[in-house]
Amino acid sequence: MSKCIAIDGPAGAGKSTIAKIVAGKLGFIYVDTGAMYRAMALYMIKNNIPKEDSEKISSTCQSADITIKYEDGAQVVYLNGENVNGLIRTEEVGNMASVSSTNGDVRKKLVELQQKLASETSVVMDGRDIGTVVLPNAELKVFLTASSRVRAERRFKELTAKGQECNLEKIEADIIERDNRDMTREISPLKQAEDAILVDSSDMTIEEVSDRIIELYKSKTC
Ligand code: C5P
Repeated sequence: MSKCIAIDGPAGAGKSTIAKIVAGKLGFIYVDTGAMYRAMALYMIKNNIPKEDSEKISSTCQSADITIKYEDGAQVVYLNGENVNGLIRTEEVGNMASVSSTNGDVRKKLVELQQKLASETSVVMDGRDIGTVVLPNAELKVFLTASSRVRAERRFKELTAKGQECNLEKIEADIIERDNRDMTREISPLKQAEDAILVDSSDMTIEEVSDRIIELYKSKTC
């Protein structure tokens, strides 16, 4: 039977870095659900759909075919047959994703895809609603967080390393705005599942966090 680890938390908490390491060490597949919401947001941007037009977002998402493949162990997101991995990591797409992900039709479509993946293979899945909605029976649920300043500094380093020009204050303001939107939305808001374990990574190294999660998983399943 396939096993699941759910990692939820706010933007920039280090979920994807940690989830990738944990998946690698346990021989599970890493599923980045944020990338699916980002691919959907890219589709909205490409079709000039205004952020505030939820009806248009609902109708447009029906023609977005989002699929996930694994190439050399890494997740690749395809949008209507096109590999969009290189196009979804911008602040513009992230900000659109935080709006279009509040739409019930978008969520329904992507949650189905996520549940299907988890039913086929053991996964470490990260996102905002994995422990609460997508995989309520996950063997381990972690709520990974860090202060907004630490998270902004991490994203700043990431973007600067990629050669993207950015401003730390603006990134922190965007992170706070995105957290608020994710936590207060009506459908599947970001919140810690009752049975999730809180891990604050503000003063922890990547290795310390991933070791802690593996330890937690082993103590739950062995
Ligand atoms: O994690 P990442 O920053 O890539 O996600 C982009 C946006 O997608 C988030 O701000 C959030 O609004 C949305 N999202 C979501 N549910 C998930 C994963 C991401 O609503 N499971």
